[in-house]
Amino acid sequence: MARKINFYAGPSVLPVEVLEELGKEMVDFKGSGLSLVETSHRSATYDEVHNNALNLFRELLNVPENYKILFLQGGATLQFTMVPMNLMGNGGICDYTNTGAWAKKAMADARIIGNVNVVYDGSAENFMSLPEPSTVKPTEGSSYLHVTSNETIGGVQWKEFPDTGNVPLVADMSSDILSRPLDVNQFGVIYAGAQKNIGPSGLAVVIVREDLLERQADNLTAYMAYKTHADGDSLYNTPGVFPIWAMELVLKRMKRLGGLTYFDKMNQEKADLLYNVIAQYGDFYNCPVDPRYRSLMNVVFTTPGADLDKAFIAGATEKGMLGLKGHRSVGGCRASIYNAMTREGVETLASYMEDFAKANG
Ligand SMILES: *Cc1c(COP(=O)(O)O)cnc(C)c1O
Repeated sequence: MARKINFYAGPSVLPVEVLEELGKEMVDFKGSGLSLVETSHRSATYDEVHNNALNLFRELLNVPENYKILFLQGGATLQFTMVPMNLMGNGGICDYTNTGAWAKKAMADARIIGNVNVVYDGSAENFMSLPEPSTVKPTEGSSYLHVTSNETIGGVQWKEFPDTGNVPLVADMSSDILSRPLDVNQFGVIYAGAQKNIGPSGLAVVIVREDLLERQADNLTAYMAYKTHADGDSLYNTPGVFPIWAMELVLKRMKRLGGLTYFDKMNQEKADLLYNVIAQYGDFYNCPVDPRYRSLMNVVFTTPGADLDKAFIAGATEKGMLGLKGHRSVGGCRASIYNAMTREGVETLASYMEDFAKANG
């Protein structure tokens, strides 16, 4: 079988060893005579996978003991609701940085729960840059300040985060979670859908500082309260058994390869390969993003015209490279090069980009 090179933004590339292991174990999980996906989530068999995944996640990101790690469903999108419901108590204000498509969606949901202050608005610059972190200050009395660490569609990524003092910093890290080391102590809550960097869809990981579990609004139903899941070790209801199992395998592999130090370096090198071609063929390719905040995960660029963009994408598809079309809201091209994208995959794209520029420039 010839595997394609997968640049889809999400769901996205997974390590081939992980897919092979899932296949091998799918019908008969570790000799149990059952598939894990048809085994009770209250069984010892599943428990081991669940706890391994929790422990590996904590170890890789160096999550301190006073933070809970939750495995939820509903994607990052449900967190757009759960964050304000759990952190704002009964009404109040919260701060958002408007940095692109995902920040906007998060803000729109928060506005239904409480009052949103926009402490940074990148719309005038078409979301092609980010604020200097030191200029981002929470509003007096704010319940939390929200950032989107990597705007998957726009290709902008925070390199450092604002210091929000006593106001908890909340980050949507859906598209760069576990791509680089991080000081979790800077944050009150971190959340991420799994399907970009660390697994298949159907799982959201939420990291929440324990003291914040006491803030929730009075009228929350069971599922909506972080406390329910924290108290029940993310087994209050049936968890996403399959994505948690797959993520466990991804995390094991990450640890074996050297953890976040390894992936940080690798991700930087992969992104450099593409940004260097864009710079070298600067008359042909354009990356509109402020060089200080260019994403290491989603590299966006255009050729000199929409027709050439189309030809570029068609040519790539012929060569087995999929998913290079920019998001329908922005057009152009986008290469999503998450943790599981190999250096060889990026090298293949980089040399195709050179050839395409030479042939069409
Ligand atoms: C993909 C994405 C989301 C939405 O994730 P779902 O799991 O589809 O709900 C939210 N935020 C960011 C930054 C994303 O990249």
